Amino acid sequence: MTTFVLATANAHKTEEMRMVLADLDVTLVARPLGVPDVEETEDSLEGNATLKARALVEATGMAALADDTGLFVDALSGRPGVWSARYAGEEASYEDNVRKLLDELAEVPIERRGAEFRTVIAAAYPDHEDLVVVGTLKGSITLVARGARGFGYDPVFAPEGGGGRTLAEMSPEEKNAISHRGNALRGLAVALAKRAEP
Ligand code: IMP
Repeated sequence: MTTFVLATANAHKTEEMRMVLADLDVTLVARPLGVPDVEETEDSLEGNATLKARALVEATGMAALADDTGLFVDALSGRPGVWSARYAGEEASYEDNVRKLLDELAEVPIERRGAEFRTVIAAAYPDHEDLVVVGTLKGSITLVARGARGFGYDPVFAPEGGGGRTLAEMSPEEKNAISHRGNALRGLAVALAKRAEP
């Protein structure tokens, strides 16, 4: 049995992790109150996820899980990427970021609006090597925002195979089944199960 302390304070992400890892011999616990969030200072998702997980191991002495996600837009040479949360500024809201994205792509036709969500999850241990897994979701940026579910860039991201609907027009179950974070978590479940083999 491995107990992991989670870097995220986001209840939605925590619940998603519990669901996907339910069949494994792992326990997930919240970040202790006195342990602050770590600033994401690296210029890659891998760097930030590992930085956050390792900082938690140092602070708690326990194994830790941390994730970092970015939206990589083809027509913007991969931006906003690792800076997706701060795309429209340090204090940007989800709506600010979506507006800036639609503005930047205003002249880009639908066939050149390809994009990819990428999530990296790092598992760090006091006495083992780190484990790093990646999950992706390909799709395109819509011309206008649609749908009221989800968060972040969901209203302007239409995944491949989704019949033109945005992630914000899908149920949480439908999104989790195809999403970048869901795919990374499923990869993590496989990697953890392998690591636990005798
Ligand atoms: P984080 O690393 O999970 O905090 O994600 C960074 C930023 O990417 C967030 O602030 C959101 O804007 C965006 N993001 C992450 N995951 C999703 C998602 O599942 N849908 C839409 N946007 C997301």
